[in-house]
Amino acid sequence: MEPTYCPYCGEQELEELDPTELMVDNQRWIIYHYECRVCNEIFDKIYLEDGFEDIDELSEEDEDSEGRLWS
Ligand SMILES: [Zn+2]
Repeated sequence: MEPTYCPYCGEQELEELDPTELMVDNQRWIIYHYECRVCNEIFDKIYLEDGFEDIDELSEEDEDSEGRLWS
């Protein structure tokens, strides 16, 4: 997958720079850098290599009901 156009100016003159690899939570992220030849903006595209893994944000709601202290 390649970006088709610059998100800043909409032109399609993109130059692919060296990608960066990151390990985040035992997942490999590959960050592709693109430079627009028209407006010289640089933007990134991030791909996760281990497929898509739903990040379950565990919202533990251990709210102690302190209302009982009001006796
Ligand atoms: Zn541009």
